[in-house]
Amino acid sequence: MLSLYNSLNRKKEAFKPIGSARVGIYSCGPTVYGRVHIGNLRAFLLPDLLQRVLRYIEHVDVDWVMNITDIDDKMIAKSQLEYDKLNPVEALERLADKYEELFLQDLEKIGIKRDDISHLPRATDFVVEMQSIIKGLLSSNIAYVQNGSIFFSIERYQKSGKKYGKLIDLNFSSKSRVTHDQDQKDGVADFALWKAKKPNEPYWDFKLDDTNYPGRPGWHIECSAMSTKFLGDTFDIHTGGVDLKFPHHENEIAQCGGSQANYYLHNEHLTVESEKMAKSTGNVMSIEDVKDPMAFRYLVMSAHYRSQMDFGSKDLAGAHERLRRLRTYTDQLMLARPGQLPEKDETKAVEQFNVEFKHALEDDMNTPKALAALSIIESKVYSLDAREAMRLVDSVFGLNMVNDTPLHDDILEAIDSYTQARTDKDFKKSDELRKNILEKYGLVAADTAIGTLVSRH
Ligand SMILES: [Zn+2]
Repeated sequence: MLSLYNSLNRKKEAFKPIGSARVGIYSCGPTVYGRVHIGNLRAFLLPDLLQRVLRYIEHVDVDWVMNITDIDDKMIAKSQLEYDKLNPVEALERLADKYEELFLQDLEKIGIKRDDISHLPRATDFVVEMQSIIKGLLSSNIAYVQNGSIFFSIERYQKSGKKYGKLIDLNFSSKSRVTHDQDQKDGVADFALWKAKKPNEPYWDFKLDDTNYPGRPGWHIECSAMSTKFLGDTFDIHTGGVDLKFPHHENEIAQCGGSQANYYLHNEHLTVESEKMAKSTGNVMSIEDVKDPMAFRYLVMSAHYRSQMDFGSKDLAGAHERLRRLRTYTDQLMLARPGQLPEKDETKAVEQFNVEFKHALEDDMNTPKALAALSIIESKVYSLDAREAMRLVDSVFGLNMVNDTPLHDDILEAIDSYTQARTDKDFKKSDELRKNILEKYGLVAADTAIGTLVSRH
């Protein structure tokens, strides 16, 4: 049974899906005003891993929704800089098109395909849904209008008997100001649901009774509107980076009158020399700067999602080498000729591996432990059940290692000649044939207990 660390209750809990058919996951997506950095990418590898683990352990299908934030201050500023000839709404759309495409390309490089995500809604397509939630909050008197903007009142929310501060402990009695949404508002922590139109900014009409409040939505409201639209009033799991706990997720929970999701999962930061990777610190790196993006994926998976991960080029080189060895072993199993691999491994190492691998993932997706279990079989056990085990590893970790296209007859013949030369102890000839197999077919021949096995170079 899968257990997950639920930020709502701050403990590991057995995962119980709402329904039996599909598990709903909502992930806060990128703001598409620039290229995401690899620290951001860690936050998208979490739900990708999660959906794979859910399929493996819980045998369920998954609906994974990730929003695209295409409206906020940074989007507006950048769109007007890059597309100054277009009207504000068109400029915004053009900017979102450009960086959403780049984002999807970056995801693909780290093994997340467009089709792996069930829905990728854009915020500005759901303004009506956002307005409908805001109307509800106004009529229940939790929200208030001020200078054309609409704010959520934390005080009124708390007075209605609800708790604000489900994910982290909050204390607003101090003088500390919340840095987001600095527009005029009553309470320090109140946040904007709707921001009054400013000159030359994109805006939408918002008619309340007889008054129009032209403006644009705040950030938090968009996620609640889109998660409700695609996953319903309640759904299974909400994911995001740990920095989204407050104010973003806390505000999402408040404006929905309680948590929509039964489980909140947060991944820790990726740091560079112990500093958070952020545009403001100037230490950002995009996946384009990474030579082997799948090694980056491996590297992220080799740390537990709830532990901080310090990133360095040495680590990436280490992950590249580790992945190369794992690919070699996987190839050797997949490319073995029919009948070459015994059905079962006699030493029961595969059985032991399967148990440890599953236990590790069931325990709040302990990926480092699951990967460590590979040492039980890797490069020493060659059998059909080991081949199935590696197929499973690949499907859970999404490393795209499996290639089981059968080898062509002339390759098989070349391997046979090589094996024969080895048996005859004609090492000069076998060395030549090995070289030939590498140069002609790009395959590395290795001598194992069950004969010659090959892997892609
Ligand atoms: Zn969100």
